[in-house]
Amino acid sequence: MRPIIYWFRKDLRLEDQPALTGLARSGQPVVPVFIWAPHEEGEDGQWAPGAASRVALHQALGALGAALEGVGSRLILARTRPAAGSGAANFLQSMAKTLNAAAIHCTPRFDPAGRAQEENVELALRSLGIPLIRQGSPGLYPPWESRKADATPYRVFTPFYKNLQTKAPPALPLAAPALLAAPATWPASEPLKSLALLPAIGWDSGFAALGPNTPAGGRAALASFLGAPLRNYPAGRDVPSQAGTSRLSMHLAWGQISVQRLWHEARAFDPVAAEPFVRQLAWRDFGQHLLYHFEHTPTRPLDAKFAGFPWRWPESPEGHADPAAARDFKAWCHGQTGYPLVDAGMRELWATGWMHNRLRMVVGSFLVKHLRLHWLCGARWFWDTLMDADLANNTLGWQWIAGCGADAAPYFRIFNPVTQSRRFDASGAYIRRWVPELANLDTAHLHAPWEVPPLALASAGVMPGVTYPHPIVGLTQGRDGALAAYAQMRV
Ligand SMILES: Cc1cc2nc3c(=O)[nH]c(=O)nc-3n(C[C@H](O)[C@H](O)[C@H](O)COP(=O)(O)OP(=O)(O)OC[C@H]3O[C@@H](n4cnc5c(N)ncnc54)[C@H](O)[C@@H]3O)c2cc1C
Repeated sequence: MRPIIYWFRKDLRLEDQPALTGLARSGQPVVPVFIWAPHEEGEDGQWAPGAASRVALHQALGALGAALEGVGSRLILARTRPAAGSGAANFLQSMAKTLNAAAIHCTPRFDPAGRAQEENVELALRSLGIPLIRQGSPGLYPPWESRKADATPYRVFTPFYKNLQTKAPPALPLAAPALLAAPATWPASEPLKSLALLPAIGWDSGFAALGPNTPAGGRAALASFLGAPLRNYPAGRDVPSQAGTSRLSMHLAWGQISVQRLWHEARAFDPVAAEPFVRQLAWRDFGQHLLYHFEHTPTRPLDAKFAGFPWRWPESPEGHADPAAARDFKAWCHGQTGYPLVDAGMRELWATGWMHNRLRMVVGSFLVKHLRLHWLCGARWFWDTLMDADLANNTLGWQWIAGCGADAAPYFRIFNPVTQSRRFDASGAYIRRWVPELANLDTAHLHAPWEVPPLALASAGVMPGVTYPHPIVGLTQGRDGALAAYAQMRV
């Protein structure tokens, strides 16, 4: 029998893979392959997986290789370089030719780079008369299946979600195949190490807090979530000091667990309690829907009127440097803004490769509104530091917070980081964990140290400007600056 190539991409697991289930049943030999081609991710590789995401990928590939060995197979690893005649399409064409493969199977991707890659592969295979067969979906449903009555894509979440709720349940979970038939001869593989996905200096040691990015890690995260956290999700999901959310985003990003499985298992556990969680999974589908239909949005606002918004840039796309903007951006990245909740969120991100959703909104709003820095500065920083970096979700999140995307928070609605802090970290536990230099302050004082009387600061060992920074921008000043810029844009 001619072998089939299974091209793994962001679906690095054996469960819930309709193509692999079918191939295992047919007994056809399968050659599983993963191609590391970062230069193909966006124009000039600008959305190549960032440093934290590469760590997650390394773990996922290690686990996938082991899982394949367990079912009598192997993972062939390849890397391509940014040269003409190189790339995933050329690699797969040449592999298909050498193996005399009958077809290549894959799970489709919905992002622009993934789709372009598939088109290139299809083109390259045409001369060999071999098909590229897509099965499965990285979302609950493919993005082209949801359309408004006038056949245009959705731009508002609520009607999108209502439409999703009318659909048949997503694909049922499938067990991993017990055995995959091996080809007569195996092609050569690069060792995982040679993809150089791990950092040379071990700054990623804190990433272990999320657990390993493996299917077993994903199942463990799901098992801990299906209980009190799911039942208490509507309230618990907003308290960053608690494990009130599933923390499955990293596992979803590289496909360690399928979103269809989450949908089914959460609903099987408790269909009523699952609803708010399923709604968040639908936000993920909404992000994919927007990115699919509006491919330009990773770098340009969906709402075109924001194209001329007077954002600040540390260095503008035209190469103009703004030292004050660069200083503010650096302070934000390093959790040194003088706003305890913002700093706590940014430090959690740096240390663990993950940040709570409430904090993503607070730090994002602070960056684009109080500091008026371009949302792309934040999106790129997140892209490099998040283990769960996902182009659709990151674009959706940043444009939502900047007020320039679909169904976005209106620009004039500005999160106050102190009010957010008092409301969502009322006990101060989150701030104390990530900003230990303020830990001895009374809870009443913790959220706004600049308002604290000198004696209270001294007795808590806090020296403003020495042990903890002064606020880099005043709350009123930042808010007024944002509103003035918005008024200017509307003229
Ligand atoms: C500025 C900004 C940037 C973001 N960047 C990313 C990113 O790069 N990757 C990413 O996966 N998420 C991103 N998010 C969305 C959200 O913050 C994370 O998905 C969530 O915090 C992950 O934690 P969890 O798995 O515990 O979520 P849970 O609350 O347990 O939710 C379950 C799953 O639903 C999906 N989900 C939840 N909230 C959202 C949302 N608001 N938008 C889209 N999907 C959602 C995620 O896949 C998540 O894993 C971003 C949000 C903002 C505001």
